[in-house]
Amino acid sequence: MKELVVISGKGGTGKTSVVAALAGLAKKCVLVDCDVDAADLHLILEPRIIRRENFTGGGKARIMPGHCTACGKCEELCRFDAIWFDGPGNGRTARTFRIETTACEGCGVCVDYCDDDAIEFVPAVCGQWFVSQTRCGPMVHAKLGIAAENSGKLVTQVRQAAQEVAQRQGINLVLCDGSPGIGCPVIASLTGASLALFVVEPTVSGMHDFQRIAQLTMRLGVPGLLVVNKADLNSQTTKDIEAAAASHGIVVVGRIPYDRDVTRAQVAGKTVVEASNGPAAQAIRKLWIEIKKHLASVGDSTVGGLVRIGS
Ligand code: SF4
Ligand code: SF4
Repeated sequence: MKELVVISGKGGTGKTSVVAALAGLAKKCVLVDCDVDAADLHLILEPRIIRRENFTGGGKARIMPGHCTACGKCEELCRFDAIWFDGPGNGRTARTFRIETTACEGCGVCVDYCDDDAIEFVPAVCGQWFVSQTRCGPMVHAKLGIAAENSGKLVTQVRQAAQEVAQRQGINLVLCDGSPGIGCPVIASLTGASLALFVVEPTVSGMHDFQRIAQLTMRLGVPGLLVVNKADLNSQTTKDIEAAAASHGIVVVGRIPYDRDVTRAQVAGKTVVEASNGPAAQAIRKLWIEIKKHLASVGDSTVGGLVRIGS
């Protein structure tokens, strides 16, 4: 099974609009929204949720007051100042220690060092992930809780769930809307993918962030393609970005011109290839033809379908 991850290095480059348009052209693919911190693919594709799962991304420590001898060792060891001496008393001590859940980072140090086994580790639900149906095919997406962490782990989970859906339905392409930036969620978006498509805008920051994400992608051993979005807004920077891509071994597969139809399509809740046959839509149709050629020559995704999602 092939997995194409669309990536940008920064937000606001038009990546999600390109993903939605490619999904419309692919006809048969499983979509994944890896931007679990601020998902937006659903705004265009209006998914109907058919399965909903909790995401457990770590744990929080909790002191059991009946066992605490108030020795204070946990308070000394906690580097996040999450432990307070104002818990309820018991038969041995007037007050016990208490952990403030919102301050606990779940490092587990206090659990390991409490000689009285008075601290338990409680798994924390950090968000939810969903399997949905859209007009462009199945889609796996997620919502991370407010201030919740482990977004990289959640990205891996939604990618694995998408592979499972694809296997069950006999679909041989997974199309991922990758996370922005170059941090943990992006690494989780790219690792083991068949192919990356960089959607870059011709600006100084676009060039800077592209250089960083290109280096990361090459390190992960994922072959890359480049398309410059709104390429005609700055033709010199477009050429510079394309030259930088070539120096990283990334193949330039197209330019998408600035086209107000892209925004009109978004406002109408449609992909640009559904709503228009203008310059941007035509460029994306050509882009898809090029992507298909490259997908045919790259290896399968190695993410693996490890998540059981029931029948
Ligand atoms: S280390 Fe254990 S016994 Fe000591 S104060 Fe903390 S919870 Fe209580
Ligand atoms: S698990 Fe770590 S962060 Fe949480 S209370 Fe214990 S020592 Fe502090």
